[in-house]
Amino acid sequence: MEEELKNQFRGRFGDEQAAIMEQAISFASRVHCNQRRDDGTPFVTHPLTVASYLLDMGMDAPTVIAGVLHDTVEDGDNVQIGDIETMFGHEVAFLVDGVTKLTKSGKQTYVTKKQEQTENLRKLFLAIAEDVRVVIIKLADRLHNMRTIDVCSPQKQIKKSKETIEVYAPLAHRFGMGAIRSELEDLAFRYLLPEEYQSIKEQVDVQQKERLELLSNAMERMKALLREANIEGSISGRPKHLYSSYRKMQRNNCTLHELYDLIAIRIIVDTVTDCYAALGVVHAAWKPLPGRFKDYIAMPKPNLYRSLHTTVMDENGIPFEVQIRTKEMHATAEYGIAAHWMYKEGRKSMTELDKKTSWLRQVLEADETTEDSKEFVDNILKDFLGEYVFVLTPRGEIIDLPVGSTPLDFAYRIHTNIGHHCQHARVNGNVVRLDYKLKTNDVVEIITSNAQTGPSRDWLAIVKTQSAKNKIRQWFKHENREENIQRGREMLEESAKRHGQSLAILMKPEYCAEVLKRHNLATLDDLYSSIGFGGVSAGQVLHKLIDLHRKAERLDELQEKLENAGTELSKKPLHRANPKGIYVHGDPGMAVFFGNCCNPLPGDPIIGYVTRGRGVSVHRKDCKNMQSLMQDPDRLIEVEWAIDERTDFSATIRVFIEDRPGSLLEVSKVLLGLNVNMTDLSSRSTDDGYAAMEITCTVSNAEQLQLIISNLRKIKQVIDVFRV
Ligand code: MN
Repeated sequence: MEEELKNQFRGRFGDEQAAIMEQAISFASRVHCNQRRDDGTPFVTHPLTVASYLLDMGMDAPTVIAGVLHDTVEDGDNVQIGDIETMFGHEVAFLVDGVTKLTKSGKQTYVTKKQEQTENLRKLFLAIAEDVRVVIIKLADRLHNMRTIDVCSPQKQIKKSKETIEVYAPLAHRFGMGAIRSELEDLAFRYLLPEEYQSIKEQVDVQQKERLELLSNAMERMKALLREANIEGSISGRPKHLYSSYRKMQRNNCTLHELYDLIAIRIIVDTVTDCYAALGVVHAAWKPLPGRFKDYIAMPKPNLYRSLHTTVMDENGIPFEVQIRTKEMHATAEYGIAAHWMYKEGRKSMTELDKKTSWLRQVLEADETTEDSKEFVDNILKDFLGEYVFVLTPRGEIIDLPVGSTPLDFAYRIHTNIGHHCQHARVNGNVVRLDYKLKTNDVVEIITSNAQTGPSRDWLAIVKTQSAKNKIRQWFKHENREENIQRGREMLEESAKRHGQSLAILMKPEYCAEVLKRHNLATLDDLYSSIGFGGVSAGQVLHKLIDLHRKAERLDELQEKLENAGTELSKKPLHRANPKGIYVHGDPGMAVFFGNCCNPLPGDPIIGYVTRGRGVSVHRKDCKNMQSLMQDPDRLIEVEWAIDERTDFSATIRVFIEDRPGSLLEVSKVLLGLNVNMTDLSSRSTDDGYAAMEITCTVSNAEQLQLIISNLRKIKQVIDVFRV
C-alpha cells in the first residue's frame, strides 16, 4: 500500500513534493514503530490509509502529507508540533495540530472525560474555521477508524459510534460530504442500535431487490428515451442508506414500504441544460407526483448540494424518485467541500469556499464571549449540527436555521441591528407572530422600525438559536442600564420572596462584597444590571447570599460559646500532654507515643510498653488493655510524667478592644485561624468604651505566643495586646 500511495502521490504532485512525502512516511513509520492497531497490524497502516483516502478525494499535497502525520504528535512520546513545523513547514504543522487533541500537551488538567472531550471539540471547531482542510482530514481519520471498528472492544465501539452520530456525521453533512456522512451513519447505526439495524437491513435487502427488478424496465426505457433525445448520460439505481431510512421512518411514523425514495434512479449527465432536458423526458413519459419536484440546481442547499429531484409513478402505480445532476454536482454531493480541490476551481472561488464555512465563523463570532467550552460546543451542536430548515430572503438567498427557529432568529442571522429593530415579520406574504416556527421554503421578510428601540425581554424565550440569545443579552447589557438595574433589583426581590427570605437580612455589605467579587463586578448596581439582562441569575445570587448568611450564623454561635467559655473551659482538663512530657526510666531517649485506648492525662498513673520498632506506648495503669499487655511482662517499662519538661504551657494575654458587637467575633476568628487551644476566656467592659479580654491558651513556645499577639494586633478594633 505504501508503494502505491507514493507512486500515486508522485504522479499527482511531482518529484519535489514526493520527496517530502517520503520523508513524512518514514517519520511516521519511526514514530509509530512500536504501536499496533486493535487488530494487531502495525499502527502506521492507519495514517497511510487516511492519506490515501485524502489523495482519492483529490486533496492537495499538504493535506495528504498532514494525513500521514496526523497521529504523530498525539501518539508519539517525544513529538511536538514544533518538530513537525521544522520538518514539514507551517502549513502541514497547522493541519496536524488542528486534528491533534489537546490532552497531549499535559498542561490542561481535566476534571472529567466529558470536559476533555468538549475542550477537544472546541479546539477542532476553531481550527476548522481557520482552515477547512482540518475537517476533511478529521473525517478521513474517523472514516478509517469506523471502517475498522469491528475489532475494538464493545465499549469503544459504542463510544466512537456515539461521537460519530453526534458530531462527525453532522459535520460531514454540514460540509456537504454526503458519501462520508452516509457511511459514517450506517457504521455507527450498526453498533448503537444493533437490532434496528439488522431488521432494517434485512427488509431493505429484500425490498431493494424487488424494487430494482420492478424498476429495471423503467431504467431500460429511460435509457432509450434519453438516447432518442440525444442526451448523453448514465443511469443507475441508487440504494438508500440504512440510517437515513430509519430516521425517516421514525420521523414520519411509517413503514419501509411507504418510503418513496427507498430506491431512486439517478441520471448523471454532462451539462446543466441536459439536466433540465432529461427532466422533460422523464416527466413526459411518467406522471409526476404533485409537490415532489425540487430544483436544487436553481436553489442549492446551503451545503452546496445541487440536483433535480422528482417523484413519478410507474405503470403499476408505484412511485419512485428520480435524481438528475451533472458529474460535477455528483462529486459535490458525495465529497462536498472536498470537491473544491477536486475541481481545482482556482483562486477566485476561495470566496466561494469562504462562504461554505461562513456558518461556522458566524457562530464562533457570536460566541466569542462564551468562556465556557461546554456552552460553546453545545451551541455549535445545537445551532449548526442539528436538524435545520432552509428559508429564503425576499431576494432568494437561502438561510439555514435550526428546526424550531423563529423570524427573530432569522432577523438576527441577517444582521444584529435587523434583529434589534425587528417590528414584525411576513412569511410568504402574510404577517406572522414573532414566535412562528419557520418551515423549509418559507420566504421571510423582516419589517424593521426605528420606533422599535431594541429587543423585548420576552424575545429571550422565543428565539431558538444561541447566537440570537447572546445578541439580545448583549443589547440589554449595554443599552439599558437604568432599566436593567431596576429590573434586576425586582428580580432579586421576587426570588427572595419565593424562597421566604428577607433581602434586608441577606444584603449585608460584607456578603454583597463577596458576591460582587465572585462575579467580578464593582458595584451593587452592576450586580442588579447583570441580573436584569440575564448575565447572572437572580437565584444564583440569592443562594450565595443565603450561604454566606448561614456561615455567619454559625460563626455567631461559636462566638456565643466563646463568651460562655470563661467558666466552662476552665473546668476542662488540660490539653492532652505532649508525648515529650514523658520520662522513660532507664532509656530517656526512646520514642514515646500514647495508646489510643486510654488517652492518659497528666496525673494519671501510667506504664510503658516497648513495641516492636515504634518505641514506647504509654497507657494508663487501669487501661483495659493492660491484661493482654501483662502477658509479655518483659516489655513493660516504667514511665512517669515529666511535667517540668513539657513544651506546652499556659499563657495569658490581655486584649484591649473597642467594646462593640463584632469585636469579639474578630478576635475569635483570628484565634480559630491560628488553631489556638483556649483554656480560659473572660471579658469585661471598661469605663471608657473599651473591653478588656483575658485569654488563656496553650502554646508550645514563646515564638507561637508572639505570633498570636501580632495577629491580634492586626485587627482593626484592637487597641493593644500584651502578655500578662
Ligand atoms: Mn487517527
